[in-house]
Amino acid sequence: MKFVIIGGDAAGMSAASRAKRIVPEMEVIVLEKSEDVSYSACGMPYNIADADRDIDDLVVRTASVFRNKQGIDLFTGCCAEAIDVKNGAVTGTIDNRESFRFFYDRLLIATGGQPIIPDLPGFDHPGVVALKSLADGRRIKNYIKDNDVKKAVIIGMGYVGLEMAEALRARSIEVEMVKPGPDLLPWMPRELAAEVRRELDANQARLHLGCEIKGIDKTADHLHIVCNDRILAADMVLVAIGIEPNSQLAADAGIETGVGSAIAVNHKLQTSNEAVYAAGDCADAYHVVTGQKTWIPLALRANRAGWAVADNVCGKETSLEGVAGTAVFKVFDLEVARTGLSLEESRRYGFEPVDVTINSRSRAHAHPGAQPIWVNLIGDRRTGRLLGTQMVGREGVAHRINAAAVALQAQMSVKAFSETDLAYAPPFGPVWDPLLTAANQLLKKMT
Ligand SMILES: Cc1cc2nc3c(=O)[nH]c(=O)nc-3n(C[C@H](O)[C@H](O)[C@H](O)COP(=O)(O)OP(=O)(O)OC[C@H]3O[C@@H](n4cnc5c(N)ncnc54)[C@H](O)[C@@H]3O)c2cc1C
Repeated sequence: MKFVIIGGDAAGMSAASRAKRIVPEMEVIVLEKSEDVSYSACGMPYNIADADRDIDDLVVRTASVFRNKQGIDLFTGCCAEAIDVKNGAVTGTIDNRESFRFFYDRLLIATGGQPIIPDLPGFDHPGVVALKSLADGRRIKNYIKDNDVKKAVIIGMGYVGLEMAEALRARSIEVEMVKPGPDLLPWMPRELAAEVRRELDANQARLHLGCEIKGIDKTADHLHIVCNDRILAADMVLVAIGIEPNSQLAADAGIETGVGSAIAVNHKLQTSNEAVYAAGDCADAYHVVTGQKTWIPLALRANRAGWAVADNVCGKETSLEGVAGTAVFKVFDLEVARTGLSLEESRRYGFEPVDVTINSRSRAHAHPGAQPIWVNLIGDRRTGRLLGTQMVGREGVAHRINAAAVALQAQMSVKAFSETDLAYAPPFGPVWDPLLTAANQLLKKMT
């Protein structure tokens, strides 16, 4: 059995390692176009925040460990350019010079995603950067140091942009953020988004909402971000407007793509060609609330899907139920989290959503250090099902969201969720946990 994997990060290396563990004699070949494998992309903003930390601290396992200790045939600098599904082969070039052709019995496409860069003038300037790969992280750190960056503009206000605002402020860099839409975190109830806004304001991250970007001009000493109604000057521009799946290779081979152009996979992670699997940010998934296809590129799914592919390739039949879109991120001292559907998504998927937003506390009444926690809970009036939860607070948000994620996975009703036996002690929450208080209030509204 020859198992070929394209892409050597979270999904690809998880699959390679697990396949070798289950069937040590299997020939496992990984083709990775960059020089970096198996690193924590999620840790990059926190590494960039610290000028003294080496970016390579984020490497989880080096290429030589995969090769010499695990027996994986890992080829870096190896870009896959075409998949010949008829003959079961992958072709491409090594170090932009020599061509290669590898035959496979089973193939995994784990090519991840790539940052979206607007097709506008000036975005090809070296001071205009994006953060996706470890090479990007290295480039940004070097650019800040070599150009003595004092002022940065971040285009986009998603979680990578917000984490980078904190990172750059930690380096005493002035930060302005800009986006064309009118709302910060539009999927969030306005009370919760207002808390995030307050935190950004308190940390001198200046927001420009509703600003259409026309291009970037380079003057003698600055980059000028030209918007419809203003011009912002910066030493560096970070583009953080999202990613798109790297699915072209699959599409060119006649493999079906679906939601957001991600590679369409079944519960076993098989594509429309049964010898070819896809996992991670390049592939879609089923949503546990809607039962429909979705594309939510996050790390746990990539690792888990890589494992599941290895199991299936090794004959251990495995199906993955899906994702709830559970995510958490930090905005300076705030924890921001979500799982399941937002109100707008609930409507779009045909539910009859009812929601409640409460303001509770992270610790018991009168316990020192208690901080406010905002909880938004959404239920379906027709079926009584829990549909989604969002939370913002200074502590106790990041792990609390997981209780709601488990409830969604179990397709719980709001009533069943309100009856769950959650832990209590004064330093960790009120006796009625904020999630239970929200569920009780939502129940009243739904009936
Ligand atoms: C700054 C940042 C912060 C993040 N924070 C979080 C977080 O807090 N929580 C969370 O859940 N997720 C987070 N993520 C997302 C998470 O990192 C991704 O979901 C995860 O890395 C996806 O893994 P992957 O293996 O699918 O794709 P990738 O990590 O993108 O890896 C794909 C690999 O394929 C290679 N490749 C692509 N095309 C080819 C080709 N043609 N030939 C050969 N090789 C190819 C690429 O070079 C790359 O190494 C963050 C991402 C970033 C960028």
